[in-house]
Amino acid sequence: MNNSKNILNYMFGKGAIDNLGEILDKKKSQNNYVIYYIDEYFKNNELIAKLPIQSSDEIFYVETKNEPKTQYINKYRDILIEKNKNTPKAIVAIGGGITLDTGKAVANLLTNDGNAEDYQGWDLVRNPGIYKIGIPTLSGTGAETSRTCVMTNEKSGLKLGMNSDFTIYDQLILDPNLTKTVPKEQYFYTGMDTYLHCIESLNGQFRNAIGDAFSQQAITLCREVFLSDDMMSDDNREKLMVASYLGGCAIANSFVGIIHPFSAGLSVVLDTHHCIGNCITMNAMDEFYPKEFDEFNLMASKQGISIPRGIAANLNEETYKALYNSTVIHEKPLSNALGENLKDILTFEKVTEIFKRM
Ligand code: NAD
Ligand code: ZN
Repeated sequence: MNNSKNILNYMFGKGAIDNLGEILDKKKSQNNYVIYYIDEYFKNNELIAKLPIQSSDEIFYVETKNEPKTQYINKYRDILIEKNKNTPKAIVAIGGGITLDTGKAVANLLTNDGNAEDYQGWDLVRNPGIYKIGIPTLSGTGAETSRTCVMTNEKSGLKLGMNSDFTIYDQLILDPNLTKTVPKEQYFYTGMDTYLHCIESLNGQFRNAIGDAFSQQAITLCREVFLSDDMMSDDNREKLMVASYLGGCAIANSFVGIIHPFSAGLSVVLDTHHCIGNCITMNAMDEFYPKEFDEFNLMASKQGISIPRGIAANLNEETYKALYNSTVIHEKPLSNALGENLKDILTFEKVTEIFKRM
């Protein structure tokens, strides 16, 4: 039976980030310096001047062109060792899912021998990581609450996180002011990650009352946000931040279904980013999630978002094989949705047809 862990401390509200200094001051440690991982979007942003940064701290701006790779995580660790900055009192990550996952992964790696790829899997991390604070600037992935940090090992092609209680943030600062500047399309794609995850869970066979409760409330909030006139109003950014938080809690207690495996295929083979990949996949999911397919399209049209089409329409046989393999490898979520005989349903021809329709 799951012995689930939740976030112990979180601070929520507009302007909450102003409390970062106080939180860091209260944290006592042998070393006093802090390592910051900040989404590159904020590089020359007024936010930086507001942070309680000291001269001994280190700031790394995290690139978001590519989703995290194990070798980048190893490199971040190596830089800190080289600078003799590998035992900070805290790691602070400020950004979207890429940056939040980077902070989690480096925090684990600094207290555990070996490389990031050695910890891709379930409960492989042996020692608690460095104390870490997560500050999301984009809502939807649930990376702020989940017990994983997704990374790709380019050598093996494995895309898998460090699933561990040690991966969970020690402290969150949830400040809806921080999501004001997110581009509209990105706000929709990432917000939809919560909605899609939760509808996959609720349509699955492996369910439990706690996972269902988190998912249902997250979906209710997503509906309020994405069926309203302005999904980015002050109220709606607050709601979506809560939906993302709850969606992350749901991930720890439930399984996804068909959308995430197909999106993972797009990501591994075509380098499509996670959240847009889910939305592209959803466009071919009418037969599996008919009611939600209609609702998803209603939300997209209400917000004036067009989902890219045709990215997997005309590929060669070898690429379809690669897409097939990197999709059907996700047996647990697929059997959650389709049952034991999922391989009879998702034949190579069927999977190819679905990718072509995206
Ligand atoms: P992201 O980190 O990929 O960022 C997307 C874009 O938004 C970037 O260009 C970034 O610079 C920009 N951005 C972020 N905040 C902004 C702001 N306030 N204003 C303007 N621009 C801003 O976004 P994401 O969709 O949150 O994260 C995707 C990543 O999350 C993937 O790597 C995925 O694998 C991971 N993920 C992790 C989990 C988990 O449980 N750990 C779950 C789902 C997805
Ligand atoms: Zn997701």
